[in-house]
Amino acid sequence: MTVFQQIIDGEIPADIVYEDDRCLAFRDISPQAPVHVLVVPRKPVVSLVELEDEDEALMGHLVMVARRVALDLGLENGFRTVINSGVDGGQSVDHLHVHVLGGRPLAWPPG
Ligand code: AMP
Repeated sequence: MTVFQQIIDGEIPADIVYEDDRCLAFRDISPQAPVHVLVVPRKPVVSLVELEDEDEALMGHLVMVARRVALDLGLENGFRTVINSGVDGGQSVDHLHVHVLGGRPLAWPPG
């Protein structure tokens, strides 16, 4: 069981900024920017690799929630959305999630 599943199940606390029947969004415990939120589907998908055709609408929903959260948290000046996948992608929690980062200028390319 991943730490995100424990948050979804209410077993450990999180600073939740949005939730609905398909996902929740909570603040990253180790923020890399003034605003750093993770949008996490309730469905236990490991990463983009494990997505199936039936998950297309779910992914669209996660992106729309990322947008909503970014605007609600005042990131009108811009923000970054990131989905890390697998070892080389730097994924450390094996439950699909969309990072929303903002509140400062973000460099490109990433490391
Ligand atoms: P990734 O490296 O893309 O898999 O991102 C996982 C993110 O989850 C990291 O930015 C961690 O800081 C974050 N994280 C790990 N445990 C928790 C937790 N209990 N609550 C909130 N964020 C967490």
